[in-house]
Amino acid sequence: MATEQRAVKKAKGPEPVKIVSFSSLTEKVGRFNLRNKTFLIPQMNRIGGHLLAATFRSFGIHAKVMDTYKGLGLGQEYTSGKECYPCQITTGDILYHMKKEKERLGDAFNAEDYVYFMPEADGPCRFGMYNKFQRIVLDTLPDLSRLKIGSLTTKDGYSLRGIIEEEKVRDIRKASYLSVVVADILDRLLWRIRPYEREPGMADEFIERSMRVMEEAFETCGAKKEFDRILDKLEELIEEGKDIIDPAIPRKPLIGIVGEIYLRTHVHANQDVIRVLERYGAEVVNASIAEWVNYTSYDRLREAKIALRLGLKSLRLNSLRKHLRSILSYGGELLYQEYRQKQVYRRVRALIDLAEDHKVGHLEKILHEEDLFNFDVGTEACLSIAGIVQYARERFNGVVNVYPFTCMPSTTTSAIIRPLMNRLRIPYLDTPYDSSTQPGREAAIRTFMYQAHQHFKRHGGRFHD
Ligand code: SF4
Repeated sequence: MATEQRAVKKAKGPEPVKIVSFSSLTEKVGRFNLRNKTFLIPQMNRIGGHLLAATFRSFGIHAKVMDTYKGLGLGQEYTSGKECYPCQITTGDILYHMKKEKERLGDAFNAEDYVYFMPEADGPCRFGMYNKFQRIVLDTLPDLSRLKIGSLTTKDGYSLRGIIEEEKVRDIRKASYLSVVVADILDRLLWRIRPYEREPGMADEFIERSMRVMEEAFETCGAKKEFDRILDKLEELIEEGKDIIDPAIPRKPLIGIVGEIYLRTHVHANQDVIRVLERYGAEVVNASIAEWVNYTSYDRLREAKIALRLGLKSLRLNSLRKHLRSILSYGGELLYQEYRQKQVYRRVRALIDLAEDHKVGHLEKILHEEDLFNFDVGTEACLSIAGIVQYARERFNGVVNVYPFTCMPSTTTSAIIRPLMNRLRIPYLDTPYDSSTQPGREAAIRTFMYQAHQHFKRHGGRFHD
């Protein structure tokens, strides 16, 4: 056999392992044409997943958001415990979804009818390995070995080339990006209105309904690029959402969240930390998803510029054309994304005071000014460390770092930022999560919120008011 054979030992599970081929990692993980397939999107942040799926559907791709967290037991069965928690959750999600599909379709079930979406990142941490690991797991299951994993990578700034007809690639990328920004806005709207709602439950019910309205808007208008119609709908919703705020409730301490993208946005995985903070009197702003998308474009552009400089220095002129092309391509992408994001926030902020998003170039500048970290190292630590400094400059009353237990970039963030926060006397809390419940967690959050209230009082309310 030309391929490598390997035994994967499972902690538990019905059968010990089978054969895994290395060629599977290239043949069944990558960018695949999604026509006539069901494209399965994991649910990281609920609104973002649904709006992205609606956008893909507007381009004729049968996209579906999978339930999440219901298959955690399966995820645990097929992992050893050494993997990052998001890997365990997403493994469980796909296994659970396919199990349900098999039950629903019986003999008609065919794993080749699906493509499971699991993006990856290059760089020093383990996110790049999730889809490889999941490939190994799927290959050990006869019914699922032909299920392909559709992977987009930060290596090319999440290019969508190859998944749809070439002439539609640019449009689907633009519409998808808008769906990310609008999902961020709906999340921020929820966090802005829920602490001040007139009656308990109003904000959650309204946001759930709003998500459905925006899903429909993206499904109808996404492929036609009728972005103004989408934003008109968003404005209508914001006008309605504003009325949920009870003006008699005074503003509360403002808490910023940073951390690992999956954990800080997945409400089951983080044990609904935002709601717990709100219960103890916070108004919360979480770092956005668009920030990460912009970061991947920014980082590719930065790399291309460095490569061009090195090429010029070492007189490797034949590579210059390639670097210039990359600079134009990633530079154009970033410019478009920042323009679109700014346009949406400008329209929204004319109606309600939602927190603006951080510009990645500005975050890099902060790291230089404070000499804390460097974009050359990469990972989300770049965004988290600089994001915390920016929160401090904007006089937030406290910061929470939300991440999976043992997450490398987030523990780096914690090590660097703790002394600074102590010096600045700004309350700061690390909240690492796995599937267990820490008995002291709620007490830690309550104590943190007590400190945030003190900070709030000491500084005479909020900077923004
Ligand atoms: S960012 Fe953290 S949780 Fe995600 S892969 Fe890296 S180490 Fe794991």
